[in-house]
Amino acid sequence: MMKRVFRRVLCGMMILLITLTAGCSAPASDPDTASFTAMDTVMTLTVYGADCCERIRDRALELDQRLSAVDEDSEIFALNRDGTAVLSADTAALVRRTLTLSADLDGALDPTVYPAVLAWGFTTGDYAVPDDEALRALAARIDYTAVTLSGDVCTLKDGMMLDLGAVAKGWLADEAKAILADSGADGAVLNLGGTILLYGSKPDGSAFRVGIADPAAPASCFGYLNLGEGVVATSGGYERCFERDGVRYIHILDPATARPVDNGVLSVTVICDEGVAADALSTALFVMGAEGALDCWRAHGGFDCVILTDDGRLYLTDGVADRFTPAGDDEYEIMPVHRDHTGS
Ligand code: ADP
Ligand code: MG
Repeated sequence: MMKRVFRRVLCGMMILLITLTAGCSAPASDPDTASFTAMDTVMTLTVYGADCCERIRDRALELDQRLSAVDEDSEIFALNRDGTAVLSADTAALVRRTLTLSADLDGALDPTVYPAVLAWGFTTGDYAVPDDEALRALAARIDYTAVTLSGDVCTLKDGMMLDLGAVAKGWLADEAKAILADSGADGAVLNLGGTILLYGSKPDGSAFRVGIADPAAPASCFGYLNLGEGVVATSGGYERCFERDGVRYIHILDPATARPVDNGVLSVTVICDEGVAADALSTALFVMGAEGALDCWRAHGGFDCVILTDDGRLYLTDGVADRFTPAGDDEYEIMPVHRDHTGS
């Protein structure tokens, strides 16, 4: 079954389709829009009631420049090269939040996976499958608890490197939200490359409608969510992956093994007020697998999620169960998930 689904999967950019149904009530003034590339992905902004796309784009490019692990001029590159660095206050704040989230998520999110990301070739596209011994050595180096942050001074253990790729777009969503508020925007849909900020309301007052990419055909959607304000982050194995000897390897790694996750999860979408948490959760829940992810949801709450697995199941937590509409003749069984099973 897994093979069957995977065979149809196109490796490439995930495209989340956003449908903004035109209002049939009073005509609203044209939204401010922008589209550009940052953080290795295409970002598309639509803002109602204010002209602040340029400010948001500038901030996206600035954050990208500071946080990129591959850009030789970035703060993170300098930290990884030197083992210690004085970070800007903003970057230090993101590292601090990421370490807290890593602890909350029992290490399923771990920003120190970077040496393993490099070894598998996910940054360059020069893919390789490290042997078991190399993987053991890489796994031994993954440990977010060994990162020290004292004020703005960050220090890594020998051989350790940071990668904020799993959380940077979510952090940007939070910053963009502050810019929207400061600019007096009425509403906005910011697609930051798989992490989407829904802000305020649309001119016609209708709910935001967000499509979730179909892992088997990422240019189309398997369903839609009708949502109010919040951040929607999706992690999918189809985004960046390669195949070797009939085995498919995805860009989300299990920090415990330094290997690409292979647990039957095809895609995880998280809906949460805080962008950086939404982004962290989508990656971490993917690592945990469906069962572990739902246990995490029951234990923590504060977010909702949509999880698609290769056995044809679509898990929807309480808060989104009646906000989901299938796109068409779906091949999955909808599994509503409630909190009351564990009594928590
Ligand atoms: P994307 O950035 O493609 O939308 P994610 O938010 O899931 O997807 O982040 C995946 C990226 O984060 C990977 O490309 C890699 O750089 C890094 N990464 C992979 N696995 C982990 C992990 N378990 N914890 C933290 N970062 C990870
Ligand atoms: Mg993420």
